[in-house]
Formats: sequence, C-alpha cells, structure tokens
Amino acid sequence: MSQTELLAETAPQQTEHFDVIIVGAGISGVGGAYHLTNQCPDQRFVVLEALGDFGGTWLTHTYPGIRSDSDLYTFGYRFKPWTSAPIAAAHEIRKYMGEVIDENDLARHIRYQHTISKASWSSVDNLWTLEVTRGDTGEQLQFTTNFLWMCQGYYRHAQGYTPDWPGMERFNGRIVHPQTWPDDLDLTGKNVVVIGSGATAATLVPAIAGDCNHVTVLQRSPTYFFPGSNVNELADTLRELEIDEAWIHEIVRRKILHDQHVMTSLALEEPEFVKQELIAGVRTYLGADYDVDKHFTPRYRPWQQRLAFIPDGDLFKGIASGKASMATDEIETFTETGIHLKSGDDLEADVIITATGFNLSVLGDIAFVINGEPLVLSDTVTYRGMMFTGVPNLLWVFGYFRASWTLRADLIADFVCKLLIHMSELGSSRVTPMLRPADADMPILSWIDPENFNPGYLMRGMHLLPKRGDKPEWQHTQDYWTEKDLLPAADLDDGCLVYE
Ligand SMILES: Cc1cc2nc3c(=O)[nH]c(=O)nc-3n(C[C@H](O)[C@H](O)[C@H](O)COP(=O)(O)OP(=O)(O)OC[C@H]3O[C@@H](n4cnc5c(N)ncnc54)[C@H](O)[C@@H]3O)c2cc1C
Repeated sequence: MSQTELLAETAPQQTEHFDVIIVGAGISGVGGAYHLTNQCPDQRFVVLEALGDFGGTWLTHTYPGIRSDSDLYTFGYRFKPWTSAPIAAAHEIRKYMGEVIDENDLARHIRYQHTISKASWSSVDNLWTLEVTRGDTGEQLQFTTNFLWMCQGYYRHAQGYTPDWPGMERFNGRIVHPQTWPDDLDLTGKNVVVIGSGATAATLVPAIAGDCNHVTVLQRSPTYFFPGSNVNELADTLRELEIDEAWIHEIVRRKILHDQHVMTSLALEEPEFVKQELIAGVRTYLGADYDVDKHFTPRYRPWQQRLAFIPDGDLFKGIASGKASMATDEIETFTETGIHLKSGDDLEADVIITATGFNLSVLGDIAFVINGEPLVLSDTVTYRGMMFTGVPNLLWVFGYFRASWTLRADLIADFVCKLLIHMSELGSSRVTPMLRPADADMPILSWIDPENFNPGYLMRGMHLLPKRGDKPEWQHTQDYWTEKDLLPAADLDDGCLVYE
C-alpha cells in the first residue's frame, strides 16, 4: 500500500458535530440520554460506546451468578419502576435498560463500537474534538462537541486487576479473572480456588459450588457481608393492594434510602455495634462451632468498604454444606498444583479464579489535551465530584460507593441539564470550574479520605484522581442523603463556575 493510500485509510474520514456527546452506554450514559431528551430536547447529542451493545458493567461481566449487590429500586432509575425482586441478575438489568432505550426511542442516538482515544479542547473554537476508532471496521472518525458528558465508569473494561504473585507461571491449571470469563471453562468436578472475598467472590462461589468438587475462598483478610432475603416486603404488600407501580417504586425507594441513612449513621456513630450485628448475621448461617472470628471478622470498620448483600445467605449455605470453605491466609507462591500459603498449608487447585478487583480507569483511558497541553487530572480540584478546575465543558458521572450508583447518575443528569439551560440563557459557550479568591487558602486533599472509604482499586489509583477541597462545592460527597437536597439547589453563579 502506498503512503497516500495508507494515510487515506488511517486519516479521519469525516467530522460530525453534536451539541453534547455522552461517552458510554452503561447505566449512566443511557440515563443521561433519557434526561437530555426529556429536559433539553433541543440539544443534538450522540452516545459513543466502545462495546458492541449497551449495559457497560452488566454487559462486560458474564461470570456465573453475576448480579447486583444493590437493590434495583434504588439502582434502577428514578423514572422507571422496578417491578421484580430487589437483587437482580445482569441480564435482568440489561432487559430493564433495553426497555428504557425502546420506550424512549434512544437507540437512534447510540453508536456502538466507537472507542474514543483522544479528546482535545480548543478555547479558540470552544469545542472538544474527539478521535474515535470503530471497533468493527477500524475506521478513524472525528467528532466535535460543545460539551462532553463522561459516563465511562471507573474501571478498565478490557481487563481486570490480577496481582503479580510469585510462581504463577508454574501453575499447570487455568488462571481466570472473573471480568474476562472464558466461554469454554468447565468447572464440573474441579477443585477451584477463588482468590478474594469481595462482592464478586460472594456471587460467583454459590453459582459454581454445585458443579465443582470443592471451592476454597482464599482471602488475605475478611469482608463484611449482609445476609438477607431477596424480597422487599413493603413492595409486595403494596402490590397486593394493587397500588400503581410508579407509586410503589417511589415509596419503596424512599423507605430503602431512609433505612440506609439510618444504618450508615449508626455505622459511623457506633461502628462496634454494627460490626457485631453483621458478624452475628453470618454466625446464624454457620453455627456456633464455625471460626467466624478468623474468617468473617474484618479489620476495617463497617462502611469503609462496600457492604456485600448476600441474598438468602447463599454463600454461607455453600460453606455450611461443605461444598465451599474459607482460607484466611497469604500466598507464598503458586505451585504446579495450586497455592502454597505463608502458614505452610497448601491449596490444591485445577482452576484458580482471581476475584481481585478492577484496574481503575480514569476518564475512559482517553488522552485529554487542553489547548495543546496534556491534561493532568490529578492536578485539578473537583467541583462537586463532577467537574474539574481548568477543564471546560466537561463533566463526569461518578456514583456513590455505599449507595446505588444510579442515584447519583440521576442527580448529575439534572445538574447537566440545568447547566446547559443556564449557559444558553447566558449566551455562554464555555463553563470552567475555577477556585475562587475565597478558596485560596483551602486545604487541597486527596480525592477521597481513606478513613471514609478505602477499597483496593481506589487506593491503588488515588494518585491518578483529582483533588478535593474541604468545602461542599469542592468535594465528591459520598452522602446521597445530603446531596439529594444540595445538588439540585447548587448555585450556578456562586463563582465556582466561570462562564465565557
Ligand atoms: C460486578 C459488578 C457489580 C456491581 N454491582 C453494583 C451494584 O449492585 N450497585 C452499584 O451501585 N454499583 C455496582 N457496581 C458498580 C457499577 O460499575 C456501577 O454501579 C454502574 O454500573 C456503572 O455504570 P456506568 O454507566 O457509570 O459505567 P460502566 O458500567 O462502567 O459503563 C461505562 C461504559 O463506557 C464505555 N467506555 C469507557 N471508556 C470509553 C471510551 N474511551 N470510548 C467509548 N466508550 C467508553 C464502556 O465500554 C462502558 O460500556 C458493580 C460493578 C461491578 C463490576
């Protein structure tokens, strides 16, 4: 191929312009498309999605048992009633999202197989220019937009996080990360070791234990679990009374959110009490003789990490039946036949599953450039956990860690629409968060306080994240209960946002 032909093939084929571009067709991006259509019908927009379909997290993850650990009354959108059991499988969540897309004619706005690799802002044109590669054809495309609404999630979809343990290359069996679950993996009659005891392990183990010979969950340190039945009695009662589903959705959401607020406050005020209650819940399933102190008594305080809900105690039933067991220990080395532990014990395995979490991906692994200079996000301060100082016309959706992600996605969508309407009323084409003179002496802190929340993927990636201040305007609060009132009331003219 001649150089001219090569250039023609790799050079952008066309440039399309949209008022708003939403990045990602996960729960946040599809929600964003809904709100934009309803609240700002004049804005021309497109959703660009790297994968071949909608769903994000719920499309990427295909391991056995994949399900939510939040209830869908609050993980579902506020505008579309959830009508089934509170904890839902990935395919049920995708079905729900598919209905949102169909009912609101959103499919025409979504372009799949569009991976954005670079985004450049020009203050001369007040435009973002996106470089995009089509996954199916390899075509290079260019888009421009006035406003970038980043709904890219927080982790790399292509690959999960696997630590580099000694001797991994020696192991004769398969090593699998749940995020890239192979279609051909047959666990029938196998001895399986699952490394990690977070929400993924808790959902995976009950789903595979029946087929395997035995599953051992190997954890360095224990996790809190919250067993309960997968029903919402209030919703069921209201249904019996033939109350309208939209009402049920709203009432049940309020009840769940109220109860979670009470529980969070209690966990913060009386962590030891909540800790003992949670551990007692586990003991109910495992009996008095089980070593709950060793395997189910965490070192951290409740709510410093996400609490994994265990529907109907299925994880513990597997342990009680002998099909699954816990090992609380550390890996010395992988061997040909399994894992040798620091205690001197050996775990024999045919398959090792590394349920060890995510690789944090900040802003969708897109190379950001502002007026010719690469953006260093960690040098910015976040405006309300949504925008960043010095970064014009860009907002990201980062949900709550402890409450359902979508609660914040809905609130932020309202904020974007309000901001876009405000800009058009002002005749402004650029909005940039800037620290005010009054913020000059404000302490600049890490994005999140590890005392407040400290899961591994955040701790590993903290140096990549923006900073926060000590005022509500400059923080990503984790508290839905206060933010549900604060965010809608945010003053767009308090000087934090500079319009040009
Ligand atoms: C297994 C699992 C279970 C979870 N369970 C819960 C739960 O029960 N409750 C809860 O609140 N949270 C849960 N979470 C967190 C969950 O990720 C969020 O709640 C939510 O689904 C995130 O939605 P999102 O749309 O913001 O991001 P994602 O679901 O991550 O979707 C982002 C989309 O953006 C696309 N994208 C990213 N970068 C680019 C790019 N450069 N170009 C084009 N497209 C791009 C991705 O392909 C993806 O489709 C869970 C996470 C996992 C992994």
